[in-house]
Amino acid sequence: MSALTVEQKQQISTALAARRAQLTEEIRVELERSGHEHFADLAGEVTDAGDASVADMLVDHDIAIVRRQVEELTQVESAQKRISGADYGDCEECGAEIGLPRLLAVPHATRCIGCQGQHEKMYAHESTPKL
Ligand SMILES: [Zn+2]
Repeated sequence: MSALTVEQKQQISTALAARRAQLTEEIRVELERSGHEHFADLAGEVTDAGDASVADMLVDHDIAIVRRQVEELTQVESAQKRISGADYGDCEECGAEIGLPRLLAVPHATRCIGCQGQHEKMYAHESTPKL
């Protein structure tokens, strides 16, 4: 069980709310930007070239950015639900405390820094072809 005080949880809660607001705004801007700019650009390009794949490519690129933001937003919202529970602040891998500095920097973190490093290494290995 994590040793976070009520004040510390409030601090993290504030960080989560700020991150959530920031992400929501970024997603809104991104969708607006892609909607307007690309639509204007592509309306001409696509009708001239008669090729919709350029439009598809750009749309896919925008979706990738937005998808990452939405993914983080989901994690932030899930942390907002978890924060009142006794297990919030514990590493989901090893059960150790994630630690206040890390939680304030990454309030939706579910792993301690050691396990996160391990996880990222494994994840990187998965995409690296074995010789
Ligand atoms: Zn851990």
